[in-house]
Amino acid sequence: MTQPYIDISPEISASTAVFPGDAPFCREVTQDFPRGDNLLLSKIETTVHIGAHADAPNHYRHDGQGIAERSLIPYYGPCQVVHVHAPRGQRIAPEHLQGKRITAPRILLRTDSYPDPQRWNSDFNALSPELVRMLAEHNVVLVGIDTPSVDLADAKQLIAHAEIYRHDMSILEGLVLHDVAEGTYHLTALPLRLRDADASPVRAVLWKN
Ligand SMILES: [Zn+2]
Repeated sequence: MTQPYIDISPEISASTAVFPGDAPFCREVTQDFPRGDNLLLSKIETTVHIGAHADAPNHYRHDGQGIAERSLIPYYGPCQVVHVHAPRGQRIAPEHLQGKRITAPRILLRTDSYPDPQRWNSDFNALSPELVRMLAEHNVVLVGIDTPSVDLADAKQLIAHAEIYRHDMSILEGLVLHDVAEGTYHLTALPLRLRDADASPVRAVLWKN
Protein backbone atom coordinates (compact mmCIF):
# COMPACT_ATOMS: atom_id res chain seq x y z
CA MET A 1 0.00 0.00 0.00
CA THR A 2 1.32 3.42 -0.83
CA GLN A 3 1.63 5.82 2.05
CA PRO A 4 -1.37 8.20 2.08
CA TYR A 5 0.66 11.03 3.55
CA ILE A 6 4.05 12.76 3.41
CA ASP A 7 5.67 13.60 6.72
CA ILE A 8 7.19 17.06 6.26
CA SER A 9 8.58 17.32 9.81
CA PRO A 10 12.25 16.66 10.50
CA GLU A 11 13.11 14.20 13.26
CA ILE A 12 13.81 16.10 16.48
CA SER A 13 16.86 15.17 18.53
CA ALA A 14 19.93 16.70 20.16
CA SER A 15 21.44 16.83 16.64
CA THR A 16 18.69 19.07 15.25
CA ALA A 17 20.27 22.39 14.26
CA VAL A 18 18.86 25.54 15.90
CA PHE A 19 19.47 29.25 15.33
CA PRO A 20 22.97 30.12 16.64
CA GLY A 21 22.54 30.97 20.33
CA ASP A 22 19.14 29.31 20.67
CA ALA A 23 18.61 26.35 23.04
CA PRO A 24 19.08 22.98 21.35
CA PHE A 25 16.79 20.04 22.04
CA CYS A 26 17.74 17.91 25.03
CA ARG A 27 15.90 14.83 26.31
CA GLU A 28 16.78 13.38 29.67
CA VAL A 29 15.63 10.00 30.91
CA THR A 30 14.40 10.28 34.51
CA GLN A 31 13.22 6.69 35.01
CA ASP A 32 14.10 3.53 33.09
CA PHE A 33 13.75 -0.26 33.26
CA PRO A 34 17.48 -1.13 33.51
CA ARG A 35 17.64 1.06 36.64
CA GLY A 36 14.87 -0.96 38.27
CA ASP A 37 12.09 1.47 37.46
CA ASN A 38 8.77 0.06 36.25
CA LEU A 39 8.52 2.48 33.33
CA LEU A 40 10.46 4.70 30.95
CA LEU A 41 10.02 8.39 31.69
CA SER A 42 11.80 11.38 30.21
CA LYS A 43 11.75 15.15 30.13
CA ILE A 44 12.76 17.60 27.43
CA GLU A 45 14.31 21.02 27.28
CA THR A 46 14.32 22.90 23.98
CA THR A 47 13.70 26.10 22.13
CA VAL A 48 10.06 26.12 21.08
CA HIS A 49 11.36 26.91 17.56
CA ILE A 50 12.58 23.34 17.13
CA GLY A 51 12.09 21.38 13.91
CA ALA A 52 8.82 22.05 12.08
CA HIS A 53 7.13 24.74 14.14
CA ALA A 54 4.48 27.44 14.17
CA ASP A 55 5.53 30.96 15.14
CA ALA A 56 3.13 32.99 17.32
CA PRO A 57 2.62 36.74 16.82
CA ASN A 58 4.16 37.52 20.24
CA HIS A 59 7.46 36.23 18.82
CA TYR A 60 7.72 39.29 16.61
CA ARG A 61 5.32 41.78 18.20
CA HIS A 62 5.32 42.86 21.84
CA ASP A 63 1.50 42.96 21.96
CA GLY A 64 0.98 39.87 19.77
CA GLN A 65 -0.92 36.74 20.79
CA GLY A 66 0.78 33.65 22.16
CA ILE A 67 0.42 30.37 20.30
CA ALA A 68 -2.31 28.96 22.60
CA GLU A 69 -4.59 31.87 21.74
CA ARG A 70 -4.36 31.37 17.98
CA SER A 71 -7.05 29.81 15.83
CA LEU A 72 -6.27 26.30 14.55
CA ILE A 73 -8.02 26.89 11.23
CA PRO A 74 -4.87 27.96 9.33
CA TYR A 75 -3.08 24.76 10.36
CA TYR A 76 -5.62 22.34 8.92
CA GLY A 77 -6.97 22.17 5.38
CA PRO A 78 -6.28 22.48 1.66
CA CYS A 79 -2.70 23.39 0.93
CA GLN A 80 -0.52 24.02 -2.12
CA VAL A 81 3.19 23.24 -2.41
CA VAL A 82 5.09 25.59 -4.73
CA HIS A 83 8.71 25.19 -5.83
CA VAL A 84 10.70 28.43 -6.01
CA HIS A 85 14.18 29.00 -7.38
CA ALA A 86 15.74 32.08 -5.83
CA PRO A 87 19.47 32.72 -5.37
CA ARG A 88 20.76 31.49 -2.00
CA GLY A 89 20.50 34.01 0.81
CA GLN A 90 17.85 36.10 -0.94
CA ARG A 91 14.28 36.93 -0.16
CA ILE A 92 11.68 35.38 -2.45
CA ALA A 93 9.89 38.04 -4.48
CA PRO A 94 6.54 37.79 -6.31
CA GLU A 95 8.59 37.45 -9.54
CA HIS A 96 9.94 34.13 -8.34
CA LEU A 97 6.39 32.78 -8.39
CA GLN A 98 5.70 34.02 -11.88
CA GLY A 99 3.57 31.61 -13.88
CA LYS A 100 2.37 29.79 -10.74
CA ARG A 101 -1.30 30.04 -9.85
CA ILE A 102 -2.19 30.30 -6.16
CA THR A 103 -5.07 27.87 -5.70
CA ALA A 104 -5.18 27.17 -1.95
CA PRO A 105 -5.39 29.24 1.24
CA ARG A 106 -2.24 27.57 2.62
CA ILE A 107 1.00 27.88 0.67
CA LEU A 108 4.18 25.94 1.39
CA LEU A 109 7.30 27.16 -0.41
CA ARG A 110 9.97 24.64 -1.29
CA THR A 111 13.28 26.45 -1.73
CA ASP A 112 15.78 23.61 -1.07
CA SER A 113 18.02 26.28 0.50
CA TYR A 114 18.31 24.63 3.92
CA PRO A 115 18.93 21.03 2.89
CA ASP A 116 19.96 19.37 6.16
CA PRO A 117 17.97 19.93 9.40
CA GLN A 118 21.04 18.70 11.32
CA ARG A 119 23.46 21.18 9.76
CA TRP A 120 22.94 24.90 10.15
CA ASN A 121 23.45 27.10 7.09
CA SER A 122 22.81 30.84 7.07
CA ASP A 123 22.30 31.43 3.36
CA PHE A 124 18.74 30.18 3.19
CA ASN A 125 15.89 31.89 1.39
CA ALA A 126 13.28 33.99 3.15
CA LEU A 127 10.13 35.88 2.21
CA SER A 128 9.94 39.42 0.88
CA PRO A 129 7.17 41.64 2.29
CA GLU A 130 5.94 42.06 -1.29
CA LEU A 131 5.43 38.32 -1.61
CA VAL A 132 3.59 38.18 1.72
CA ARG A 133 1.32 40.99 0.53
CA MET A 134 0.67 39.22 -2.77
CA LEU A 135 -0.23 35.99 -0.94
CA ALA A 136 -2.53 37.92 1.41
CA GLU A 137 -4.30 39.37 -1.64
CA HIS A 138 -4.92 35.79 -2.76
CA ASN A 139 -6.58 35.07 0.61
CA VAL A 140 -3.71 32.93 1.85
CA VAL A 141 -4.00 32.37 5.62
CA LEU A 142 -0.83 30.36 6.20
CA VAL A 143 2.61 30.42 4.61
CA GLY A 144 5.17 27.73 5.29
CA ILE A 145 8.79 27.41 4.29
CA ASP A 146 11.58 24.80 4.32
CA THR A 147 14.00 27.14 6.11
CA PRO A 148 14.44 28.12 9.79
CA SER A 149 12.79 31.52 9.29
CA VAL A 150 10.59 33.59 6.99
CA ASP A 151 13.21 36.35 7.45
CA LEU A 152 16.88 36.10 6.50
CA ALA A 153 19.30 34.65 9.09
CA ASP A 154 21.08 37.97 9.67
CA ALA A 155 18.02 40.23 9.36
CA LYS A 156 17.90 42.97 11.99
CA GLN A 157 14.41 44.09 10.94
CA LEU A 158 11.99 41.19 10.70
CA ILE A 159 10.17 42.71 7.74
CA ALA A 160 8.53 39.49 6.51
CA HIS A 161 7.29 38.64 10.01
CA ALA A 162 5.94 42.20 10.31
CA GLU A 163 4.06 41.95 7.01
CA ILE A 164 2.63 38.59 8.09
CA TYR A 165 1.46 40.23 11.33
CA ARG A 166 -0.20 43.01 9.35
CA HIS A 167 -2.31 40.46 7.45
CA ASP A 168 -2.88 38.20 10.49
CA MET A 169 -1.41 35.20 8.64
CA SER A 170 0.11 32.14 10.27
CA ILE A 171 3.62 30.80 9.78
CA LEU A 172 5.20 27.37 9.55
CA GLU A 173 8.99 27.15 9.53
CA GLY A 174 11.51 24.32 9.46
CA LEU A 175 9.51 22.11 7.07
CA VAL A 176 11.13 19.31 5.09
CA LEU A 177 9.94 19.55 1.51
CA HIS A 178 12.80 18.12 -0.58
CA ASP A 179 10.75 15.12 -1.73
CA VAL A 180 7.48 16.95 -2.19
CA ALA A 181 6.11 17.56 -5.68
CA GLU A 182 4.23 20.71 -6.55
CA GLY A 183 0.50 20.31 -6.18
CA THR A 184 -2.33 20.38 -3.72
CA TYR A 185 -2.57 18.40 -0.52
CA HIS A 186 -4.40 18.47 2.80
CA LEU A 187 -2.24 19.93 5.55
CA THR A 188 -2.35 19.01 9.22
CA ALA A 189 0.14 20.85 11.45
CA LEU A 190 -1.50 21.71 14.78
CA PRO A 191 0.56 23.61 17.36
CA LEU A 192 0.52 22.61 21.03
CA ARG A 193 -1.53 24.70 23.47
CA LEU A 194 1.51 26.17 25.21
CA ARG A 195 0.38 29.17 27.25
CA ASP A 196 2.06 32.45 26.27
CA ALA A 197 4.58 30.60 24.08
CA ASP A 198 6.14 32.38 21.10
CA ALA A 199 6.01 29.19 18.99
CA SER A 200 5.21 25.51 19.15
CA PRO A 201 6.64 22.44 17.47
CA VAL A 202 4.13 20.82 15.10
CA ARG A 203 3.89 17.45 13.38
CA ALA A 204 3.45 18.76 9.86
CA VAL A 205 1.93 16.26 7.45
CA LEU A 206 0.65 16.50 3.88
CA TRP A 207 -2.19 14.10 3.12
CA LYS A 208 -2.43 13.13 -0.53
CA ASN A 209 -5.68 14.03 -2.25
ZN1 LIG B 1 10.28 30.39 14.47
